[in-house]
Amino acid sequence: MFYVHIKPLVSALVNHLFSHRVSIVMLVSNHINSAQVLGQTESHLHYVSERVAIHKNMKNAFDAMVNTAKTDGIELRIASGFRSFNRQLMLWNNKFSGKTPIKNMAGDLISPDNLSPLELAHSILLYSALPGASRHHWGCDIDVYAPNLLSEDYQLKLEPWEYSEQGPLAKLSVWLIHHAHKFGFFFPYASFQGGVANEPWHLSYLPLAQVYQQAFDIKVLTEALNSSNIQGKDVIVENIEDIAKRYINNVCIAPSNVILPK
Ligand SMILES: [Zn+2]
Repeated sequence: MFYVHIKPLVSALVNHLFSHRVSIVMLVSNHINSAQVLGQTESHLHYVSERVAIHKNMKNAFDAMVNTAKTDGIELRIASGFRSFNRQLMLWNNKFSGKTPIKNMAGDLISPDNLSPLELAHSILLYSALPGASRHHWGCDIDVYAPNLLSEDYQLKLEPWEYSEQGPLAKLSVWLIHHAHKFGFFFPYASFQGGVANEPWHLSYLPLAQVYQQAFDIKVLTEALNSSNIQGKDVIVENIEDIAKRYINNVCIAPSNVILPK
């Protein structure tokens, strides 16, 4: 395990403390290191079920949101919480090799045959992050749905139409827009900004997410990718600055009404 360079981490903490008055005890207890940023450890996690884990310092806020949603008739549940580097690597390689279909924002299948390796990487990045650069590594980002709004045999696709006004999860979407900020959550992919597609199911817990976001280090990511068996490695590493600018650092800013814990 190698730790992030001290200087960016300290400046991240200082910026964080100045921008939002969050307890220093909470931050220090996070022990943020590059293994957490890259999804190469589970030291920061709490398992909410056998397969779903979240950041342990997000548990109280998440539980409070779930309980309030329940009183409003919504069974808020996580479809995807923490995801490891290796899991993200598998998802990436399956898409790059054509084992898993790739879709565009309209939900149409993309044929990888006529794409250059760089075009293929961009098509994947619309919905899937590079291993080492997924916000799901941090444990404070979750994809949510509500099983009680779906029929029993419904297969969740995590596609925008499901969360739209006409979709089966419209009630959840509206509820999240009105209430998620009260528990410290925001939508980093609220709208398409030329990078990752709109993801109305993806919530991020601001007090933790902003610290991880600032601790992200492109050199550390490049090292991790170089030591992995990621497909398209050459073209990814060659274009890593552009990819970081367009997909990793290009998230929607949290609205000022997001309430942080005291
Ligand atoms: Zn997500």
